[in-house]
Order: sequence, then structure tokens, then C-alpha cells
Amino acid sequence: MPPANKKKQGKVCRDCHRVVDGESCVICGTTNLSEDWSGYLVIIDPANSEVAKRMNITLPGRYALKVR
Ligand SMILES: [Zn+2]
Repeated sequence: MPPANKKKQGKVCRDCHRVVDGESCVICGTTNLSEDWSGYLVIIDPANSEVAKRMNITLPGRYALKVR
């Protein structure tokens, strides 16, 4: 049986808050990532999203609300 609670939720870019699959952010190209984040956010249409505007998100994708 696989462990249930140890699933890694990935890393988040400290600069743009985007959830990153690899070792660097696809938007910033930075490796300044954090594993300590909360608030999963999916942006589908940044142009029509108040949250996206507030967070300066211009590309659709998965983001974190808070990054420590
Ligand atoms: Zn980034």
C-alpha cells in the first residue's frame, strides 16, 4: 500500500507563485522555489479573474495563494 499522507504537493515559484513541476519556474526561469506554501489556485482566464489581476498573474495555470 502506498503511503497516503506523504504525497508531495510540488514546489512553488517564490517570484510569481506558480506551481512548478520541475526544478525551475517556466515563467521566470528561476530556481527560487518553495515547498512551504498553501492555498491552491487554478487560473483559467487571467484577463477575467480578479484574483489573477491582484496577484499580477497573466498566464493560466496553477498557483499558490501563500508562499513562505
Ligand atoms: Zn515564477
